[in-house]
Amino acid sequence: MRRLRSAKIIATLGPASSTPEIIRELFDAGADVFRLNFSHGEHDVHEAALNAIRAVEKDTGRPIGIIVDLQGPKLRIGELKSDKVTLEKGALFTLDSSDEPGDETRAPLPHPELFQALQRRSHISVDDGRIRLQVERVTGATAETVVISGGELSAHKGVNLPGAVLPIAPLTGKDRDDLEFALERGVDWVALSFVQQSADVEKARKLVGRRAALMAKIEKPSAVNGLAEIIDLADGIMVARGDLGVELPLETVPGLQKQIVRAARTAGKPVVVATQMLESMIHASTPTRAEVSDVVTAVYDGADAVMLSAETATGEYPVDTVTTMSRIAAQAERDPLYLPILNAEWAEPEATHVDALSAAARQVADTLGAAAAVTFTSTGATALRAARKRPGVPVLALTHDLRTARQLALVWGVHSVHTDDATDFDDMDERACRIAREQGFAKPGDTLVVTYGVPFGTPGATNTLYIASVA
Ligand code: PGA
Ligand code: MN
Repeated sequence: MRRLRSAKIIATLGPASSTPEIIRELFDAGADVFRLNFSHGEHDVHEAALNAIRAVEKDTGRPIGIIVDLQGPKLRIGELKSDKVTLEKGALFTLDSSDEPGDETRAPLPHPELFQALQRRSHISVDDGRIRLQVERVTGATAETVVISGGELSAHKGVNLPGAVLPIAPLTGKDRDDLEFALERGVDWVALSFVQQSADVEKARKLVGRRAALMAKIEKPSAVNGLAEIIDLADGIMVARGDLGVELPLETVPGLQKQIVRAARTAGKPVVVATQMLESMIHASTPTRAEVSDVVTAVYDGADAVMLSAETATGEYPVDTVTTMSRIAAQAERDPLYLPILNAEWAEPEATHVDALSAAARQVADTLGAAAAVTFTSTGATALRAARKRPGVPVLALTHDLRTARQLALVWGVHSVHTDDATDFDDMDERACRIAREQGFAKPGDTLVVTYGVPFGTPGATNTLYIASVA
């Protein structure tokens, strides 16, 4: 049950991967966390997936993270009279707020508040940038545009107004329903789409509280601008390269990935690199060389997790894709340059007990060649701070809180185990050594570096470092 890599894998579930059998195969192949994408699928389908994941967890005894990804204020074209219409380059095309289905001259854009954000020369991107329009004139809730890049348009295609900060609520009515559904079922992470500013995270926090961890998806330029505050308020960050690459020039995305990953790592917040990582495997059993390099880049950047979307949700090779991603990440982590590159940017300890102990634990582990760092943690904070240092040894996080164990499934280098709190010194020593052995991290004669808090039995901050000898 021990994974031989530190970077984690998130697999998005969908029609290609919704049976309990495939979910089990995805886990065995290396998926540490599953994403349920609420842009698609009915509640009963998600409910079945949730139950199947929890069944795998029960069967394997390994905590598995579940992320519910809320659709957020995704803008879409309304209805059309026919399945498809063709927009020719140079043609005029109008967006309006009428209920009338559209054609090749106009279409409804059922978001009246958007028209305020449009002005002459604004760009509108439709269907992930396949169609691009430039606004000529806006009058009330009608925008006349010229087609810059033409193509086939069908109903409900996504619309982006690159760069614009939109006067829209961060959570739609659907998001609130989905959120309630998800929280009632005890999901571990909630991902917020199209976060524009830190206040959006704050609003979501009011609804979610500490019932789940909050992940802010960075996919708008305004979120990049407000990154520091967003990282501060969120529990995790996603580099959502799909929409980011529509909102901003594609060539800026790799540099932003590095900036965002670095900022999140410095703050000690888990960070996920997402979208098109092994895209060609939707239809092919092997990836392209460029995709392999892309996954390795994210691993070298020190991302906590790499994510699969359509590859596992609707692709033809969901399990092979996870196997491939796992092999790529494991190999990258065996490269001699991996740890030196990962730690080239040294995250200085902050002046807290936990950081001081994490730095010391890392030093002791290096000096003694310890088999693992073991941390007793209740909220997961100690494990996060240990992982922030990207140590050369695995971090075993022992927690009495099942939700913490599941949330930590996403975190770099952390192997979480759900177990009772230590009651006294002997229990702590025995529990750390036994679990490290059982989970395949240590054998008799090995050394463990353990951090915990005393007095025992009172949840409190970690304040003690102990060197254990495995019997
Ligand atoms: P999505 O988010 O898959 O929900 O669009 C990720 C992204 O935009 O990259
Ligand atoms: Mn997106």
